[in-house]
Amino acid sequence: MKYLVTGSAGFIGFRLCQRLLESGHEVVGIDNMNAYYDQGLKQSRLHLLEQYPHFRFIPLDITEREKVVVLCTQEGFDRVIHLAAQAGVRYSLQNPFAYADSNLNGHLAILEGCRQAKIKHLVYASSSSVYGITDQTPFSTDMPTDHPVSLYAATKKANELMAHSYSHLYQLPTTGLRFFTVYGPWGRPDMALFKFTKAILAGEPIDVYNNGNLSRDFTFIDDIVEGIIRISDIIPQTDPENCSLSPAQSSAPYRLYNIGNGQPVKLTDFIAALEKSLGKKAIKNFLPMQAGDVYTTWADTEDLFKVTGYRPQVSIEQGVQAFVDWYQSYYRL
Ligand code: NAD
Repeated sequence: MKYLVTGSAGFIGFRLCQRLLESGHEVVGIDNMNAYYDQGLKQSRLHLLEQYPHFRFIPLDITEREKVVVLCTQEGFDRVIHLAAQAGVRYSLQNPFAYADSNLNGHLAILEGCRQAKIKHLVYASSSSVYGITDQTPFSTDMPTDHPVSLYAATKKANELMAHSYSHLYQLPTTGLRFFTVYGPWGRPDMALFKFTKAILAGEPIDVYNNGNLSRDFTFIDDIVEGIIRISDIIPQTDPENCSLSPAQSSAPYRLYNIGNGQPVKLTDFIAALEKSLGKKAIKNFLPMQAGDVYTTWADTEDLFKVTGYRPQVSIEQGVQAFVDWYQSYYRL
């Protein structure tokens, strides 16, 4: 099949493209190579993808809506996997307009391109951050998500609402996936695992928010990618009766799933796993809770399991070790 992957130079997009290409699919990747983090890392990921004969990269900003529509209508994609976004919760406090541009206008351009091209299935990235601060765990897609605590989360919630309107109005099949803290080789330098690894190896302190009393449903990259690929083949159908669907779902060809590990890990335990893999203790700089952050994330993954048979395979110890091995080889340590 022929896939369009947006954000293909990004952490998740890169690994998804690799897996699709390894399975014999044709992939067109687009990315604007934004400067949110190290360009070198993005270039290296792209360089690897360009070794595959069935990969083609097009530098493109998804806010360039006419170009997005032309691309979608001319290429005959079987699937669109939309991962390009301004990522990161904390940065959304510093640069809110980057989120409006890529995550609202850019997302709309992708919806419009898919509508005009009559794409058979659009799968897009949402986020666990839409759940905000809640005592109700695990997080299920039936829970209310109308109190985002960061602009990033608000744009991800908006992505779901916009997708629903397109599914309803134009019968565009869409599936939103709420990703839960993805980690692993080629991971993002702005995320905890990367920052902690770099600091611990340099003998520098790591910032530990809320005294380490935070839990995250850390999900290994390959488990996320497996879930994306499996769900991309399950095309939502219009369901006028809406009888077999949970309240979060819709009679339109619109579906929404959590994609996470399903087992939250305390930040202190996560750091302990990293110390073990590195064979070195962290110097911890305990700080108060950060604005926009949440205490816990915990995915209820039963809905996704029911439709895909997917259960994450990689334990936190294995996943952290895989990251450390990649980090040490990439930086030749
Ligand atoms: P990433 O920043 O590594 O990848 C995103 C890519 O999109 C980058 O390469 C960036 O250059 C590109 N991009 C940004 N704006 C663009 C634009 N306007 N036009 C074209 N390209 C653009 O982030 P990631 O971790 O790979 O995240 C992928 C998706 O998953 C994002 O939508 C993100 O919000 C979502 N997500 C990620 C996590 C996580 O833990 N990594 C958690 C929840 C949701």
